[in-house]
Amino acid sequence: MNKKKIVILGAGYGGMMVATKLQKKLSPNDAEITLVNKHDYHYQATWLHEVSAGTIHQDRARIRIKDVVNFNKVKFLQDTVLAIDTESKSVKLQNTGRIEYDILVVALGFQPATFGIPGIEEHAFTISTINTSRLLREHIEYNFAMYNNEVEKNPARLNIVVGGGGFTGVEYLGEIVNKVPELCKEYDIDPALVRVFNIDGSPTVLKGFDPQLVEYAMSSLESRGVEFINNAHLIEIKADKVIYEKDGETKEIPTMNAVWAAGVRANVIVEESGLGTNRGKVDVTPEMRAPGHDDIFVIGDCALVMDHKAGFPYPPTAQIAIQESGTIAHNIIALVKGGELEAFKPNILGTVASLGHKDGTGIVLDGRKLFGWKATVMKKIIDNRYLLKLGGIGLLIKKGKFNIFG
Ligand code: FAD
Repeated sequence: MNKKKIVILGAGYGGMMVATKLQKKLSPNDAEITLVNKHDYHYQATWLHEVSAGTIHQDRARIRIKDVVNFNKVKFLQDTVLAIDTESKSVKLQNTGRIEYDILVVALGFQPATFGIPGIEEHAFTISTINTSRLLREHIEYNFAMYNNEVEKNPARLNIVVGGGGFTGVEYLGEIVNKVPELCKEYDIDPALVRVFNIDGSPTVLKGFDPQLVEYAMSSLESRGVEFINNAHLIEIKADKVIYEKDGETKEIPTMNAVWAAGVRANVIVEESGLGTNRGKVDVTPEMRAPGHDDIFVIGDCALVMDHKAGFPYPPTAQIAIQESGTIAHNIIALVKGGELEAFKPNILGTVASLGHKDGTGIVLDGRKLFGWKATVMKKIIDNRYLLKLGGIGLLIKKGKFNIFG
């Protein structure tokens, strides 16, 4: 019998966890496994707000794929996926041409959603990959460096405007307000000249989160200088200003540092490949397969999993992607070796938002609310737990966050 060709697209949380689980359970005699990813590294997207603010170096947030994946068991292809062709059961890659599959895992993650707002693509910076995050960090540093090199001082160089007060926006605000004093010292700038704004359409940030935690987050950030503009809608971003609407009035803030953190969507390849999408994601079967495609599993931010109790989909998180990997790996092994397929059962363990490296807030499984250093400790435990799961104690020691109080 021919060996099954298993192809995993994307080495984010979902793809890496499926690959490392399969390499433990399947031998090269059972199946030929290929992992395809744009870069030769895996990055922890949940650390990108830190990379974007420059509070950690990008190398802290990325892990060489070869350090975790056994290339004797999993073939690695560094390439960019262009399209999935379900008819010919093949994937079109930028450099390698086509690669065929018997079983496909779509783990291509998220990309920013701009909702058609003019100027975002041209002028705003996003926190979505290592490269966009490094660019944002360097762009703000450049503007701070330029400020004192111009005869006519331009406040737009020092104003930072973050569009969106969801988790990504709030976590970035927490990091950037911690970084501003350091940047001011470095570039001879009076800290009183720097203003950090957040614009969000809801009455508060972290919409849907526990009100006590929201209040804590907002007052922590306000105490460090963040100016919240709520119930406001960003209508355009230009090279030197952000234009928004509030209470029926159009207003603007001069800025050359616009950060767009107000929305993500599933990788557009999923929709373009005709996998049957709902809100841009694949509305997966209980076994995490694309409907009508028993050979295609979809994971993480590309998959839509309904929270039937709440009546809406689970938000896209690394937590759920990691949990889905267990079901998908089990089901692939069942298809290869024989056995029963299982249904995915999410087990949400809580949510913690960081507010800079010394502060945070969140809620854990038993409903306990966490504030301040207790939340930051929990956040680090979550990060470290993932490293342990992915690469064992060696990876944890190499990449873990151990300075729990700072
Ligand atoms: P990703 O992790 O996005 O991985 C996708 C992979 O596919 C990447 O390696 C990418 O390079 C690769 N890829 C993409 N396109 C192509 C292509 N065309 N060809 C080849 N390779 C490609 N979640 C939490 O649970 N807790 C948190 O605290 C949290 N905080 C966050 C903070 C920030 C700043 C951000 C941005 C996100 C946060 N999230 C958090 C959400 C979490 O990061 C995502 O839900 C998670 O990364 C989704 O995992 P994934 O495997 O679906 O995709």
